[in-house]
Amino acid sequence: MHHNVDYAAHLDVLGEPSEMLNGAQMQDVTGSRYYQGGLFTPGTVVLQPALFVRSAAQRLRSNRVNIYENSAVRALDRIDGIWHARTDKGVVKAPKVILAVNGHAQSFGHFKRRLVHVYTYGSMTKAMDADAVKRLGGQANWGITPADPLGSTVRRISGTGGDRLIVRNRFTYEPSMSVSDAKLNGIWRTHNESFAARFPQLEGIEMEHRWGGHLCLSMNNVPASGEVEEGLFSACCQNGLGTVQGTLGGMMAAELATDHRSDMLDDMLALDPPKRLPPEPFARLGARAFDVG
Ligand SMILES: Cc1cc2nc3c(=O)[nH]c(=O)nc-3n(C[C@H](O)[C@H](O)[C@H](O)COP(=O)(O)OP(=O)(O)OC[C@H]3O[C@@H](n4cnc5c(N)ncnc54)[C@H](O)[C@@H]3O)c2cc1C
Repeated sequence: MHHNVDYAAHLDVLGEPSEMLNGAQMQDVTGSRYYQGGLFTPGTVVLQPALFVRSAAQRLRSNRVNIYENSAVRALDRIDGIWHARTDKGVVKAPKVILAVNGHAQSFGHFKRRLVHVYTYGSMTKAMDADAVKRLGGQANWGITPADPLGSTVRRISGTGGDRLIVRNRFTYEPSMSVSDAKLNGIWRTHNESFAARFPQLEGIEMEHRWGGHLCLSMNNVPASGEVEEGLFSACCQNGLGTVQGTLGGMMAAELATDHRSDMLDDMLALDPPKRLPPEPFARLGARAFDVG
C-alpha cells in the first residue's frame, strides 16, 4: 500500500465495509495477474458518466427546458439587470445564470490565477468478442482506482457498448487549456503499455476511443463557487472528483440562485475561496509534480 495510508481504517471510521484481496483474488475479479492486492469496497457504486449525463439531460428536456449543445458562449454581459449569453447564432437572456464551465470560469474573468488546469486521459478498447472475453477472464464489471494518485484507473464494462476495458492515467499541467498532438501521442503510448502490462492475454485488442479532459484544481482543495457577480453563480472546479463534487456544486448553485438555504449550502458558503497561485515560474514548478505518471 502506498504512502503508508491505512485505507481500511479510514473506511472503518466512515462505517464503510471493506475487504483486503490478495493477488489471486484480484485475478479472480480482473483476470489480470498484475495486481498483488487491493481493497474491495462492496458499498461503492460505479457509474457510466456519459450515460448519466445523457439520461439527466433527456429527463430535463420539456416544453419549458431547451438544451443547446455545441453553442460556445462568446460573451456574457449584464445589461439592464439581465444577463445576455451571446453565441454565434443567438442570445439567451436570463436574470440569473449558473456558470458550470469548469476551469473556463477563468475565461469568463472569474477566479483568475486561482485555478490549476490539469488534464488527464483515457483510452477504451474496442468491444471484445466472446473469445477475447474468455481469454481475459474475471468478472464482467469492475473498477480499480489506484492507491497512488499517479497510478492507473482501470475499468471493465459490459452491457451498453459491449465488453470493453478502459485505462486512465497521466496528468499534465496545461495553463493554456490546450494539449499538443505530440504530447497526446506520448500519452496514448503510455496507455498501450499500461494495458499490455496488465492484460498480456489480450494482445491484438486495440484501443478504439481515446480522450482527455480538464480537471480543475485549487491549491486549497475548495470549489470555485458562490455568487461571483450579481445574479451570476459559479459551480466550477471539482478538484478531480467531478461526479460527486460536481453534482454537489451544481445543487448548491441552484439553491443559492433560488434562495433555498440548507445546511450543506451554509457549509459551502463558509469555505475559503480558491487560494491565489504563486507567480510563474513557481506555479509551473509546483504543478510539474503532476506532469508524470
Ligand atoms: C479521462 C478522465 C477521467 C476521469 N475520471 C473521473 C472519475 O473516475 N471520477 C470522477 O469523479 N471524475 C473523473 N474525472 C473528472 C471529471 O470528468 C470532471 O471533474 C468533471 O467532468 C467536471 O465536470 P464539469 O461539468 O464541472 O466540467 P466539464 O465536464 O469540464 O464541462 C465543462 C463544460 O463547459 C463547456 N464550456 C466551457 N466554456 C464554454 C463556453 N464559453 N460556452 C459554452 N460552453 C463552455 C465545455 O465545453 C464543457 O462541456 C475524469 C476526467 C477525465 C478527463
